[in-house]
Amino acid sequence: MKSTYVRRSEHEMKRNAEIGLFTKPSNLIQKNLDKQMDITEKQQALLRMLPGVDYILELSKEDPLFNDIPKSVLVRSIRSVVENLRTIIMDGEQDITETKFSDSVILERVKNSVKQAMTSNLKRVVNATGIVVHTNLGRSLLAKDAVENLLTIASSYSNLEFDLSKGKRGSRYSSVEDILCEISGAQAAMVVNNNAGAVLLCLETLSRGKKVIVSRGELVEIGGSFRIPDVMAKSGAVLKEVGTTNRTHFPDYENAIEHDTGLLLKVHKSNFSVVGFTAEVSLEELVALGTTYQIPVMEDLGSGTFVDFSKYGLLKEPTVQESVAAGVDVVTFSGDKLLGGPQAGIIVGKKDLIDRIKKNPITRALRIDKLTLAALESTLRHYRNIDREIDSIPTLRMMTLPLDHIEKRAKELAKLMENAGDPRISVCLVDVFSRPGGGAFPLQKLPSKGVGVKVQGISANAVEKKMRGNDIPIIGRIEEDRFIMDLRTIQDDELPIIKNAFENMLRKV
Ligand SMILES: *Cc1c(COP(=O)(O)O)cnc(C)c1O
Repeated sequence: MKSTYVRRSEHEMKRNAEIGLFTKPSNLIQKNLDKQMDITEKQQALLRMLPGVDYILELSKEDPLFNDIPKSVLVRSIRSVVENLRTIIMDGEQDITETKFSDSVILERVKNSVKQAMTSNLKRVVNATGIVVHTNLGRSLLAKDAVENLLTIASSYSNLEFDLSKGKRGSRYSSVEDILCEISGAQAAMVVNNNAGAVLLCLETLSRGKKVIVSRGELVEIGGSFRIPDVMAKSGAVLKEVGTTNRTHFPDYENAIEHDTGLLLKVHKSNFSVVGFTAEVSLEELVALGTTYQIPVMEDLGSGTFVDFSKYGLLKEPTVQESVAAGVDVVTFSGDKLLGGPQAGIIVGKKDLIDRIKKNPITRALRIDKLTLAALESTLRHYRNIDREIDSIPTLRMMTLPLDHIEKRAKELAKLMENAGDPRISVCLVDVFSRPGGGAFPLQKLPSKGVGVKVQGISANAVEKKMRGNDIPIIGRIEEDRFIMDLRTIQDDELPIIKNAFENMLRKV
């Protein structure tokens, strides 16, 4: 064995000498060699076999596939392949042999690495998790016409800030302001980059240097480091907590009001629920209190929706219209959670306050982009007639999919995979629960159907990893030693992608 390594190494050095290169251990190897005296003879031999970057670079010139690859990409890929092999050696993997170091095997690895580097890092995935508004997987899918409008506005000039009737400068928000007022019933509206920005902007405008009263039960963290107390501190407002975690009463708010109170804030407990011995002050009461003391009331609705989901057999989420009707002065919510549009922070409310918010110079830093506006406007148009158009907005369609529809598609997928005819695969239908996600409906479980897959000789963990590593990654979960795909969030055209992913996986093992 050992002599083979040496021979190969000598052979390589000779070749390198021929092409004017020489391989020498990098500093890292040298350090490792110095430091780790317990490194085995076999490992040492393997490390000596590792070709140098220059050698592989020279080798790659013989393969036309690498012709058009930018040198920076090629060099980085070669480095990472060599680095990777070095790690494998140092980890002392038992079954490692010299075959891993043949020119062709190394070039193959470089090819894969180059292929990865040349494809987009941000790519489509199949969401088989059943979590509809999955923040890590991009939250909402856009409606078809929203995508079309976005494409048009992206590739043409537009009247983004140009008033076509007057022939002069116009407002960026005018394209969505009217329709937001129409749907929500509010006097005025504006939009920014996201809801976190909307909350920050409103607090800064309305209560900088003043006290903001919030119930202790609503000091939420929504993940991704958005915490109400922290955002409040950054806005320059001073948090005044009232009540307790589970119970806050009207006098708690009233007794806390001082001369420098700037705002009464209500935050929707979007991602958790307090059950048992609880009490909170209703929006109507809070508005009445605000009116008495001439203090504005703001509500961060979080997800925010215009749809009463209880009409569709789901739990009730507070709607934007209800908050506006209750008399809340400023309401903020996300564009890409249950609303089903692009990332945006929407602010609706009383005209005098919204006007002040619009004039805040921070709006410039939180400005919404034209592509987002295009998609948002198209999404909002569906809400004029949402009972009939609910299926046009993918998030809403997936939220309200009938179980028998999901089951039909689960059967379709199961059949597709069985027809692939590989005896190593066993497929079954499973009852699962999907979730709305996106910090909405913390208690809502949506009964759904999934396909569970077991592959002979491959653990569920390994299957999950391989699916995640597919060209179009398939993100599912593991339950009872099976890889589970929830059909609620899998799109119709994605069934063949899943079938192909499994076929590819089995071909390789
Ligand atoms: C999600 C959420 C936010 C942040 O909204 P983004 O659009 O993600 O910035 C703020 N507040 C609450 C209560 C939320 O649920």
